[in-house]
Amino acid sequence: MGYLDHAATTPMRSEAVAAMTAELERVGNASSLHASGRRARRVVEESRERVAASLGVRPSDVVFTSGGTESDNLAIKGLYWAGRDRPDSRTALAVSAVEHHAVLDPTQWLIDHEGAAVCFLRVDDTGQLDLDGLRECIGEHESLLGLVSIMWANNEVGAINPIAEIAEIVRSRGVLLHSDAVQAVGWVDVDASLVDALTVSGHKVGGPHGVGALVIGRDVTATPLLHGGGQERDVRSGTLDTPAIAGFAAALEAAVSTQVERAKEISTLRDDLVARVLKLVPDAVLNGPKDTTDRLPGNAHFTFPGCEGDALLMLLDAAGVECSTGSACQAGVPQPSHVLVAMGADEASARGSLRFSLGHTSTSRDVDELIAMLGPSVERARRAGLTSVPTAV
Ligand code: PLP
Repeated sequence: MGYLDHAATTPMRSEAVAAMTAELERVGNASSLHASGRRARRVVEESRERVAASLGVRPSDVVFTSGGTESDNLAIKGLYWAGRDRPDSRTALAVSAVEHHAVLDPTQWLIDHEGAAVCFLRVDDTGQLDLDGLRECIGEHESLLGLVSIMWANNEVGAINPIAEIAEIVRSRGVLLHSDAVQAVGWVDVDASLVDALTVSGHKVGGPHGVGALVIGRDVTATPLLHGGGQERDVRSGTLDTPAIAGFAAALEAAVSTQVERAKEISTLRDDLVARVLKLVPDAVLNGPKDTTDRLPGNAHFTFPGCEGDALLMLLDAAGVECSTGSACQAGVPQPSHVLVAMGADEASARGSLRFSLGHTSTSRDVDELIAMLGPSVERARRAGLTSVPTAV
């Protein structure tokens, strides 16, 4: 089987499995005062130190959460609410149009329920942020703008944003900057000290599902989403998941410490995949940045003209090759990916697209499997055309 969906989730690293299983066999609530509790607390604090060292921040800046979705929600709603409640009430925020739904949907919720004013920032035709659009938005809304959220790298087309430059533009105007670095961490250098808040997810770096972190400086106030026992600086109440946190820290450390070599190997493998796909299907279009330094090493995203992406996905799945589309399915009708639409794609090409993503366990066999199965699958999908309804979501 060829697994080409590492951007959705990647296998757990052996270091993470070892750290997590050791903890699963032990008892102790990290908030308890007795010896078992203190032992669990030590594991949590050592994990916090490892996460902080991997991201270039202080341990006290790391707030453990249940993953990328919660961290993004805490950043968007928590920072918006804190900004709105300041004496100079900041009731506007700006997010890029190609953010993950974990950023876009809480933003829409703030518009619908709290009357927030929002700039959806445009991107270019490769998926990278248009810096002039960002400057215009700040110029127009400076006195109201409290928060800007720009992803470090896009999950669909792999476009990497110039976060240092963005930070210079945003933070020099006294506006907070959040970045969703879920896809970037472990593949490109991520220095969390460049931003005010940063989202990381465990299962994208080879750790367990259901754990992650929001890196947020102690001087930055976020209104909590969860109230209760006051854990994690009172920003995120709830009993800490010690085994998951230990697994997450071990995975993140392994991903970051092997990043340079692994990114090089995987981008070579990805370049081979791209060349072979374009040779096999000459009218396929590679989406996203053409310059490989602007693209995540494991990402390859194509439009296959005349195909429904979901139909092609299911045909490849039946042939043992697993990948993904960025399109969502609503009431049985495939919707075009908001990312491709924001990049200027027409609806048909946005619906006829597939993402192949490589990760830390990928080998040339995965690429060989895809190449062996892609030709006949594209042919069948083209016969079905753009009118077929996918059999699964
Ligand atoms: N942000 C990005 C860019 C993602 O790719 C994902 C998951 O695909 C998330 C957020 C959500 O992370 P999690 O699965 O940990 O909730």
